[in-house]
Amino acid sequence: MTRLEALRRSMAGEGVEYFLVTGAANRRYLSGFTGSSGVLLISPARCWLVTDFRYYEQARQQAPDWELYPQKGKLSEALGELFREQGICRLGFEKDHMTYAQYETLAQLGPELVGYSGLVEKLRMTKDEGELGAIRRAAALADEAFAHILTVIRPGVREEEVALELEYHMRRAGASAAAFDIIVASGPRSALPHGRASPRRIEPGDFVTMDLGCVVDGYCSDLTRTVVVGSANDEQRKVYDLVARAQEAGLAALRAGRRGSEVDAEARQVIAEAGHADHFGHGLGHGVGLEVHEAPRLSPQAAGPDEPVLEPGMVVTVEPGVYIPDWGGVRIEDLVVVREDGCEILSRADKRLIEL
Ligand code: ZN
Ligand code: ZN
Repeated sequence: MTRLEALRRSMAGEGVEYFLVTGAANRRYLSGFTGSSGVLLISPARCWLVTDFRYYEQARQQAPDWELYPQKGKLSEALGELFREQGICRLGFEKDHMTYAQYETLAQLGPELVGYSGLVEKLRMTKDEGELGAIRRAAALADEAFAHILTVIRPGVREEEVALELEYHMRRAGASAAAFDIIVASGPRSALPHGRASPRRIEPGDFVTMDLGCVVDGYCSDLTRTVVVGSANDEQRKVYDLVARAQEAGLAALRAGRRGSEVDAEARQVIAEAGHADHFGHGLGHGVGLEVHEAPRLSPQAAGPDEPVLEPGMVVTVEPGVYIPDWGGVRIEDLVVVREDGCEILSRADKRLIEL
């Protein structure tokens, strides 16, 4: 079944005849069009890509099966025209990918609007072989950059230099971009789960947490490792070992048929039993694909009747952390593919405690 067929099946299930796609990643996923502007309209029998002059040629090349509907003036004018031509009375749209101002404009075009959340995102959760190939390559570039950075980190080097070197290495090796602002958090700053690289100079004895990823063929990778500059002290060793055990517990719990919140709970329990429950305040992991954070989530907050069951081919991270204010923190993150009887770990970077 093609992606478009799968979406049409979801639309039929929801009783939606016409569906407007405004999310950039969803647009790319369905049509193959990578331009930065354009919307998709899908009916049971036809599909249109509405975009402007800058992208006519690109749209024809990347999305040959889609009818190009040229936007000559404002997008709302083109859509209004298309809706009238098709006699659309009721239109499904993506609640999560529209500003309130855009909604107000759309509401004036005529059709009754019905908002949906996650219709395309649900399809994106399970990756095909082509998508897995891109993610594998992106993961390999992050691994290589991490191996390289071990030769760069030493006392006196700024976090910002480390981040720049990681990004440069990944892009030189073929990545089109970093997947997000690379995190380099050293010393007490390693207690910040999302500490963007700062001008701080790395000192002897520091933990250095690096969270990096890149984009290959539109698909992201995501990797975190924590190293020690010099010899680790007993407390650092203890916390690192705890996070490593929690990560192993998460990986061991991950397989098709389980729910993300259950996997989160198994890893979280390891940290809670060591008395650090309050020091692990984020979810265990998240889906990765066209976006670095996408469904499904491995988090206590994902629990509920709508929580998806994990299926083979889903790509998620497993990234427990322990963050102790004014002291430091450790996070270990792998990118994995959910399989029938377990998971396939894509991240190959060394997970033992590295002392530089
Ligand atoms: Zn990460
Ligand atoms: Zn992550």
